[in-house]
Amino acid sequence: MTVAGKINALVIAIAATAGCLLTAHTIQSEYRLSLDRIIEQSSASVLSQPQLQLDIYYRDARALNRTLQAFIDSSPAIVFAKVLDPSGKTLAAKGDTTAGFDGPYAFSEIRRNASPADQTLTSHDDDGAGILGLGGRVFDLSLPILSLINPLEKDVSRSTFGAALAAPEKMGSRHVIGYMHLGIKRMEVILATLPAAAIASVIALLFVLMCAALSITITRRITAPFSRLVRLADDISAGKIDQAVKVEDGGELKEIFSLLNTIIGNINTYKTKMDVDHQLLSMKVDERTAQLSKRNTELNKAVKEVTETKDRLRQLAYYDSLTSLPNRRLFTEQLDLLLRLAKRNKEMLALVFLDLDNFKRINDSLGHSAGDLLLREVGKRLSACVRDSDVVAHYVESTARIDVSRLGGDEFTVVLNQIDGAESAGMVAQRLIDTLIKPMIIDGHELVVTPSIGIAIAPQDAEDVEGLLKAADTAMYHAKNSGKNNFLFYHSDMDAAGVDRLTLETDLRKAIERNELVLYYQPQVDTLTGSVIGAEALMRWQHPEQGLVPPFKFIPLAEEMGLIGILGDWGLQEACRQMIEFQGMGLDLPKVSVNVSPLQFNKAFIARVGEVLQETALRPSRLELELTEGIMMDDTEATIRSLEALKDLGVSLSIDDFGTGYSSLSYLSRFPLDELKIDRSFVIDFDKSQNDASLIIAVIAMGRSMNLQLVAEGVETPEQYHFLRQHGAHVIQGYLFSQPVPAKELVPMLSPGYFREQISNIGPG
Ligand code: C2E
Ligand code: MG
Ligand code: MG
Repeated sequence: MTVAGKINALVIAIAATAGCLLTAHTIQSEYRLSLDRIIEQSSASVLSQPQLQLDIYYRDARALNRTLQAFIDSSPAIVFAKVLDPSGKTLAAKGDTTAGFDGPYAFSEIRRNASPADQTLTSHDDDGAGILGLGGRVFDLSLPILSLINPLEKDVSRSTFGAALAAPEKMGSRHVIGYMHLGIKRMEVILATLPAAAIASVIALLFVLMCAALSITITRRITAPFSRLVRLADDISAGKIDQAVKVEDGGELKEIFSLLNTIIGNINTYKTKMDVDHQLLSMKVDERTAQLSKRNTELNKAVKEVTETKDRLRQLAYYDSLTSLPNRRLFTEQLDLLLRLAKRNKEMLALVFLDLDNFKRINDSLGHSAGDLLLREVGKRLSACVRDSDVVAHYVESTARIDVSRLGGDEFTVVLNQIDGAESAGMVAQRLIDTLIKPMIIDGHELVVTPSIGIAIAPQDAEDVEGLLKAADTAMYHAKNSGKNNFLFYHSDMDAAGVDRLTLETDLRKAIERNELVLYYQPQVDTLTGSVIGAEALMRWQHPEQGLVPPFKFIPLAEEMGLIGILGDWGLQEACRQMIEFQGMGLDLPKVSVNVSPLQFNKAFIARVGEVLQETALRPSRLELELTEGIMMDDTEATIRSLEALKDLGVSLSIDDFGTGYSSLSYLSRFPLDELKIDRSFVIDFDKSQNDASLIIAVIAMGRSMNLQLVAEGVETPEQYHFLRQHGAHVIQGYLFSQPVPAKELVPMLSPGYFREQISNIGPG
């Protein structure tokens, strides 16, 4: 409750109390007044009836009854009336003397303490007070009736009495002749007070209302500025006011308002500062949010890139991109783990090392994409052949791009876990061979690849990765040398051969400086004349310890080691030099054929051929270059340009090992070629294989139609000779006439018609 409210309530309470008291006082006064009025009237009435003395003296009951009836009738408040003698004996009575539950009281009781001449008014409440201090339902009013005649005086005549009444001033003292006892009904007295009470109540009510109105008005006037202050404070705290308020009041309020205005001013300044700060802050927040979201995007991008790169790197680092098999690195890691497990569990483990036979040839002749497809197919077949717990890997370096040479590209490894014995590994190896040997369709060609497999068993052959790999590799190498398409278990005897290869590698680097390379020459015989019309220069390595090393042992090695360029260059120079020497000796060798490795065949090589011809002063027409089909597969246009550049030099071009590759024959017409060499493999088996025979016939026919010179290689027997001759191939290179021989030994063969006799001995077939 507000202070004003409390003040108002207090004022109203006080006013109400005052009003109630006033009303009560008024009612009480009015009550007494009414009672007094009745008593006065009754007393006056008794006094005004002197004959009453006479009636009492003479005990005139009738007259008395009449008088009493007149009293009762005079006022509704009088319930009963009695006349008593001075001793209290009732002379006459009228009305309901038993009115009220208490009834009329004994005379002695009513007048107990009063002198005989006094009037008495008695109420008979229990407590003696009653309502308004005068309890009881009926008041007993006792009025003395005085007389000039002494009631004790006997026999006073009526005339004496009358005279006394007529001249009361002549009479001396007065005597109490009797008493008038009246019963006054209290309710009537109360009812008589009602109008006054009503007026008093109305006045009191009006008074209360007036006080309340006055109090409210005054308190309002007093508290109005405070209310304003409160509202103002509320508004300020709610932030609704931002301008100074008008100060209308004086005194302390003025000071408070001024103070509030200062507060408003301060708040405004603070708010403005806050607004500016807020704006700056939100600008900064926006800027920062934008930066953060940009950074976040960049970060997400970076994380994504890093993850992708990591995945890619992992994939690159651990898996071969071509076959998706684990590469050398992952394989060695896994092998290491498996070896340790096998050791702990005392189990056997087999490492199968697999190398494809003649993969190089397929690659060279069909191109690298075909080679890739083949490797992929091999990978798939191998994986399908072993248990899930075994590890198949493509044994390539993680970083090694599988390049033209496909170094190591055709090597696969398989780890066979928990095998019962070596025989199990042998069975798996055989299964691998059987699976791989099934023809594959690659780029529309039906190909058959065979593997050479080496098997090493842990722990018996080796217990570590390196040792096991070396053992399996050695076994594989032996499998290859012992006819390919088979598998061999590692045996310690094989190590010597392995060491050979290692020393061979080291020695090959020094072979040129040490002048250990030599060229052998194999004559190409024109069987129509018996004369040598050309010789193929075939390289040999005169090893100080191992003796004459055949090309199949060191040419692929030189290719692997990147030495083939140097070796080839030496061969080219040496062949040209030898030709000049032959010429100087007056020998007529129409041409020398030099083998060119596909890895050698590049722009520099073409330039080099020109230089060597110039340096040695050999007529270009006397030099023939033997190329393999593989050269023709790569970038046809560029190859044509290279071949044409060679042709421009004046040299002739021959296709070696024709028929073994898988290249399309259509290139033959597009390339500037001079000669076809039918491969030895067809010649060997012509009598066993109808296919080979047909192929020879077809090649001869084709060569003829294209105006190409034909040379049949590897002719050893008269049957082969006859067959070739019959079908029109008359230039023969083979052991039938001569093995490749040192230049010195070729010399006698160069005399015209040297083989004529031999040819006639063979007969026409
Ligand atoms: P190729 O160019 O096809 O040479 C023919 C091979 O067949 C020679 O083997 C030769 O000795 C052998 N041959 C010829 N007639 C017969 C025969 O009647 N019976 C048997 N069993 N073999 C016969 P060689 O000399 O061992 O050379 C093997 C291969 O080495 C060559 O095959 C050639 O590809 C490569 N080669 C040799 N010398 C060089 C060279 O200087 N440079 C290059 N890049 N490769 C060379
Ligand atoms: Mg050759
Ligand atoms: Mg050949």
